[in-house]
Amino acid sequence: MRIDKLLANMGYGSRKDVKKFLKSGRVTVNGESVKDGKFHVSPEEDTIEVLGEEVHYKEFIYLMMNKPPGVISATEDLRDQTVIDLLNEEDAIFNPFPVGRLDKDTEGLLLLTNNGQLAHQLLSPKKDVPKTYFAVIDSVVTSEDVEAFIKGVTLDDGYKTKPGKLEIIKSGTYSDIELTITEGKFHQVKRMFEAVGKRVIYLKRLSMGPLKLDENLDLGEYRELTDKEVKVIK
Ligand code: URA
Repeated sequence: MRIDKLLANMGYGSRKDVKKFLKSGRVTVNGESVKDGKFHVSPEEDTIEVLGEEVHYKEFIYLMMNKPPGVISATEDLRDQTVIDLLNEEDAIFNPFPVGRLDKDTEGLLLLTNNGQLAHQLLSPKKDVPKTYFAVIDSVVTSEDVEAFIKGVTLDDGYKTKPGKLEIIKSGTYSDIELTITEGKFHQVKRMFEAVGKRVIYLKRLSMGPLKLDENLDLGEYRELTDKEVKVIK
């Protein structure tokens, strides 16, 4: 592939920016300075360096993050820190974005990628991708709630949810539950509990389709998906 395309794909700017960048002599291929954007490289075989730092080319990047509370799942925000601010520079350069949103106070599994087609697929309402959440509820959760969620509950805007699978882990003054839903309406889990007169006081996403949150990731940490994980979500 052309060196200018490779560098532009990797976030070093537009092809025009990259042309200027190459002209300034900051790029080498196998130790030789390359100034012509048309120069062909093989990302697998050639050693490409920018300012002496080796560039590892890949078309797409897939990251799994354990989103911490207090951080916005967007690419930019004027006031708050975003999940993109938590990325190292060498990952941020691929311009990944979060696949769907978690509320500011929600923790857990967040997938970030620059593969727009895959993101679209995972978020498509037609695909019914199941998402499982762990939540702490402010009161007693009952088998009536389980039934209500199977049938679908009516949210504050009149929308009736698709069946949700509610599992009570511990019921009491505060209850621990897991809820699996196949939709992603705004604040959906919180609003489903509001529909049965209860409040979510802690929320964490555990899985999205076949992808499970890696328990070794502390809040705010992330890692690349393994090849196997990428295959199962595609
Ligand atoms: N449902 C919610 O209410 N909030 C989230 O962040 C995700 C699902």
